[in-house]
Amino acid sequence: MTHTPDHDVIIIGGSYAGSAAALQLLRAHRRVLVIDAGQRRNDTVPKSHGFITQDGRDPADLARAARRDLEAYPTLTWADGAATTARADAQGFVVTYGDGKSATAARLILATGVRDTLPEIAGLAERWGDSVAACPYCHGYECAKGAIAVIGTGPESLHQAQLLSEWGQVDFLTQGIVPLDKAAQDDLSARGVTIMEAPVHEISGRATIRLADDTTRDYAGIFTATRIQPATDIAAQLGCEMEETAMGTTVVANAMQATSVDGVFVCGDLATPMASVSNAVGKGTIAGVATHQSLVFPS
Ligand SMILES: Cc1cc2nc3c(=O)[nH]c(=O)nc-3n(C[C@H](O)[C@H](O)[C@H](O)COP(=O)(O)OP(=O)(O)OC[C@H]3O[C@@H](n4cnc5c(N)ncnc54)[C@H](O)[C@@H]3O)c2cc1C
Repeated sequence: MTHTPDHDVIIIGGSYAGSAAALQLLRAHRRVLVIDAGQRRNDTVPKSHGFITQDGRDPADLARAARRDLEAYPTLTWADGAATTARADAQGFVVTYGDGKSATAARLILATGVRDTLPEIAGLAERWGDSVAACPYCHGYECAKGAIAVIGTGPESLHQAQLLSEWGQVDFLTQGIVPLDKAAQDDLSARGVTIMEAPVHEISGRATIRLADDTTRDYAGIFTATRIQPATDIAAQLGCEMEETAMGTTVVANAMQATSVDGVFVCGDLATPMASVSNAVGKGTIAGVATHQSLVFPS
């Protein structure tokens, strides 16, 4: 005999993507459990940029406001804590979370985001999200056309150095690990980028870099690429297809945010290396709508 699941949908991850998905489902009178560990990727960022109507706002405020919006709906259950396992069962899915709790639902949305692996450079992690960042669209404008350092981590850093020359005068600190052929060198030179090969020794002050050859310079901002990996192994536990991108691992989703596993949807950074709050909200909205329609029109 099959029982009615505890919830229509369980959403793992209640930040921007998960909250946007939840809002659509709650407004369709669905019973939604949001499980959230409360560790957003932009936890260290004082001001979030580029999300229309919210430009420059503290990203923690955005997350709090999103939760307040959801709490206006009576079919929401919110659980603070981490989900640890998820598997398919006769009722849909069973998820364990928190202190040994478990819940079932007909559908699952994964919105857990990703973790960044930062380059191991003294002083970098402490400044991450403030004077050191990855995305020029989020943090480039604040450099006010000043001197910008791009710390190379691999071949993809070339694109970052080229792009950032739109926001200021770039020193490309290749650390000798970014291959640059003649065409790349000429292109960088045409964009006014200075190439420096000595490894970065440390970052101090607001954004002062000392190289291994003892060269020191103050910058308006420092940019570097990170490697991303899913914040949890729950997508892997469920058998969702994953993809290796130039920036790291993401979960494969179709245009309606469905994964390769029936009944499991995904949204936000977990499903794309194009990270932004607005993209997470947009894809979360699609995931919420698509999940609802999969309940209304089961295949
Ligand atoms: C340094 C930095 C600066 C940034 N600046 C900007 C900016 O200015 N503007 C902008 O638009 N974007 C910016 N971003 C990108 C932005 O932070 C992300 O695109 C956005 O946070 C993605 O939202 P998300 O909901 O997918 O994931 P997240 O916001 O990372 O949220 C994931 C949520 O899932 C939870 N979770 C994870 N695992 C579990 C689990 N097992 N159980 C329960 N919950 C779990 C986490 O605790 C978290 O609450 C920045 C990113 C970084 C790293």
